[in-house]
Order: sequence, then structure tokens, then C-alpha cells
Amino acid sequence: MTTSIPSSKFLALLPNIDLMKCSRCSRWAVAEVGWKGRAYCSDHYREYFLGQVRKVMDKFRVGGKVCVAVSGGKDSAACLEALTHFRGIELEAFFLDLGIPRFSRGSLKKVSELCEELGVDLTVVSLKERWGKSIPEILKERKGKACSLCGTVKRYVMNAYSYEGRFDFLATGHTLSDVVSSTLNNLANVYVQAFRGVGPFLEAKEEFKLSRKIKPLYYLTDEECKLYSELLELPFYTGKCPYVSDAPTKRIKAWLNRLERDQPGVLRNFAKSFTLLESSMENRGEILKCKRCGYATTTRICKFCRLMN
Ligand code: SF4
Ligand code: ZN
Ligand code: ZN
Repeated sequence: MTTSIPSSKFLALLPNIDLMKCSRCSRWAVAEVGWKGRAYCSDHYREYFLGQVRKVMDKFRVGGKVCVAVSGGKDSAACLEALTHFRGIELEAFFLDLGIPRFSRGSLKKVSELCEELGVDLTVVSLKERWGKSIPEILKERKGKACSLCGTVKRYVMNAYSYEGRFDFLATGHTLSDVVSSTLNNLANVYVQAFRGVGPFLEAKEEFKLSRKIKPLYYLTDEECKLYSELLELPFYTGKCPYVSDAPTKRIKAWLNRLERDQPGVLRNFAKSFTLLESSMENRGEILKCKRCGYATTTRICKFCRLMN
């Protein structure tokens, strides 16, 4: 049987490893998955990773036409690659060009390489060309946190693209770390309405032009997705968005990563608790139709329409 010593770039996931062996075979491990109490070699790590994705795919019977929102980053790269392993899915990748100098171009380059490598069709929509304003232009006009405004724009456009293209599912590369950190951040800002969408799946609401959404990486952390993308040498962009320091979830994520190392499984428990809380909430906020575009909103005119006008 062959053995291989893990290269140093993978050791980040193995804080206590002293050349640990895979729990499933005799090869050296490249990752230790704390909540499972297992260590895996690269092949068995891939198997573990795809098994976690399968849990979501099977439970919500993901199939048909699936649009995968890709950003150029490691998570959506891992998401797209993972979905190529499932049958009965017609995949298309969707990239929104936000018009952020260097960052958007660098991301698109990697997305194009990724789609080419995986043989997945890619659609690129430019915010500036389609709606007249790029993210930097919106930010010049409006007060507010960059990532919060950018998030509004991305959610709106991804949903609209998926809805208008009659996709069966819109898949996003949100990880367990994203779900928990953004929910904690919402709680820190007393934004309880944001409890809609803390689970891996959101049903479509035709009346409000809301497409069906799925998070295939729901049971996997950021670090696990990074390792998967690195092991497979998937093309992903490592440059930083110039507005990233505005991202309030960054610090929360760093804290959660430390917590997960000390207390394996705590992120999953947070996510489970949030889902239970969501289902027990009576008032989840009324959904209205935007008077201008007809898409879902909680105010008379949706935030996207207000930003773009
Ligand atoms: Fe948008 Fe913030 Fe991400 Fe930059 S870091 S792309 S502004 S959400
Ligand atoms: Zn193994
Ligand atoms: Zn609107």
C-alpha cells in the first residue's frame, strides 16, 4: 500500500497531528475532522467531503436545472466541483461581475478556468452593463457598509437570474461557517428577521418571484472547503476585495474557527439551534412585492431598486 506524507500547506487543519494515519486506510492523513474523531488521507477526505454534500442533495432531492453562483473564491469552486459528482443535474455556473477594479477581473479569470476545467457552462452578467452601476459607483452614492450593500445586490441578482431562467435550484457556496457567522452577526445587531434562510434549503415562492435555494456546503466549514479546493488544485482567486475589511463576519469567523478546534462540532450545534429557532418563530416578517420590480421585499420599494435608482 502506498503512503504519502502530507505537504505543509495542509497542516493547518491538523493542529495536533504528529504524522497521523488515515482512519480508513494506512496512508498519512491530510485532515483531522474533529467532530467525527477521524483523520483522513486525501482520497478519504474527498469521500468524507462529498458525503457531507450528499446529505444535503439527497435530503432536498436536488436535481434538474441547477444554477451555481460562483464568485471565484475557494468555496464556490468546491461547491461547483462537488456538484459535478451527482447524477440527474444539469449544471450552469453564474458569475456576477461587480465591477470592483482588479478583484472582479481576477475572480472572473479563475471562474472561467474552473468552468473550462470542469466542462460547465458559464454565464457572466455585468452589474454595470445590465443595471448601469458597479459596486464602487453605488458605494460612492450611498452610505452604509460595503458588504451589506453588496450582499443585497448579489442576493437580488442571483435570485432574479435563477427565477427568470426557470432553474429548479439556485446553489450557493455558503458554508457552515458563513451561516453561523452571519446569523451571529445579525443577532449582534438585533436583526432577528434574518432568521429566514438559516437552513440548507429555501422553498420557492412563485408569488414573490423567489427561486428555490440550496446550500450544498451547509455541513462543511470554510477550512474544510479550502482544503478540498487545494487538494483538487481547483482554480480559485486569492486576491482580496478592497472592501473586505468592512466584512463584520470576518472576526466572528476567526473566533468560530478557534472555538471549533477546542470544541469540535460546536458550529453544527449552532446551526441546528438556529434552524430550530427559525421553525418555532411565529412572526417571521411579512413578505411584500416591490412596487417597482415585483420581487420580494419587506418595504414598499425593495432595497435593490432603491440602490439602483
Ligand atoms: Fe462584496 Fe464585501 Fe465580498 Fe467585496 S468583500 S465582494 S464588498 S461582499
Ligand atoms: Zn485513507
Ligand atoms: Zn424592486
